[in-house]
Amino acid sequence: MSEAAFQSPHRRYNPLRKQWVLVSPHRTQRPWQGEVNTASGFSDIHYDPACYLCPGNERAGGARTPVYENTYVFDNDYAALLPDSPAPETEGWPLLLKAERERGLCRVLCFHPDHSLTLARMEPDDLRLVVDAWAKQYAELGAKPEIGHVQIFENRGAMMGASNPHPHGQIWATEHVPDEPALETASQLEYRQQHGSCLLCDYLKVEQDAASGSTSRIVCENEGFLAVVPWWAVWPFETLVLAKAHLRSLADFNDEQKTQLADILKQTTTRYDNLFSTSFPYTMGFHQSPTDNAAHDEWHFHAHFYPPLLRSATVRKFMVGFELLGMPQRDITPESAAERLRALPEEHFTVKSS
Ligand SMILES: [Zn+2]
Ligand SMILES: [Zn+2]
Ligand SMILES: [Zn+2]
Repeated sequence: MSEAAFQSPHRRYNPLRKQWVLVSPHRTQRPWQGEVNTASGFSDIHYDPACYLCPGNERAGGARTPVYENTYVFDNDYAALLPDSPAPETEGWPLLLKAERERGLCRVLCFHPDHSLTLARMEPDDLRLVVDAWAKQYAELGAKPEIGHVQIFENRGAMMGASNPHPHGQIWATEHVPDEPALETASQLEYRQQHGSCLLCDYLKVEQDAASGSTSRIVCENEGFLAVVPWWAVWPFETLVLAKAHLRSLADFNDEQKTQLADILKQTTTRYDNLFSTSFPYTMGFHQSPTDNAAHDEWHFHAHFYPPLLRSATVRKFMVGFELLGMPQRDITPESAAERLRALPEEHFTVKSS
């Protein structure tokens, strides 16, 4: 397919979600404003006495965050899941009102004691310690007999509903595999059964081949990982970070691959921040093998970045109208989004300007 073929409205298929996305590039054929933010959105406060995630501070409910050196994990004081939820009494309920017990745990992982940092601005060695903490949590929570899935994620920025700018992420461990990873499990399993190969290993090759031609969707890469704006991206600057090796989960990672994951996350988030010279908001999360005791050879570890920004530090995309009722839609093509991200400097703009 040539670049020109992408300039008319068309729809693209997402084989992981079995969903279509409408691409309407003709809507963006107006000149780019190149708007950047004047206030970077970064704080230079390294310790905030009012922040419950800063070392030594008291949290709601009376617990105290200890004076920690690098990462710190604790059970969320306002957990959406509880380890001992009873089964709901559903006897005598109508057929269409279905309920199930959902036991689980919600944890908070502080990435660093310094309140002002983000993944993009952390030192590689410190970011590697975050990867180690994620791997430990995945193993520890996944080993619990009642836990079938461990969702690791980060909500970055007030626009994404993050209540606190302190660098931190969350880990929600649930009894059942939630809908998104359940859908991706089914898609990967079906693909493996039909083609005898891994959906995302094959997709990785497709993206590498495309990049050697004229339509690259690659944003950045290192020896172990590739970050692309996927063919089926919904959010304007959505990226998919793919392990180059067939790794089912963090439990399959060797030492080098953990360092490479830290590196690709820093590379990707740095480019995001550089795009609009702002602390770029997003939801980022890992998708990996469920922890329900099945082998899950079909699973291929990846990270999704879902950032809401469209044209500037303040103009965001909304999923409304046709997108809520019909299917998701985007204006800027994944190819041009990738091109813009790829062209940005590797060095964080706050480092450059100081
Ligand atoms: Zn803090
Ligand atoms: Zn694979
Ligand atoms: Zn996924």
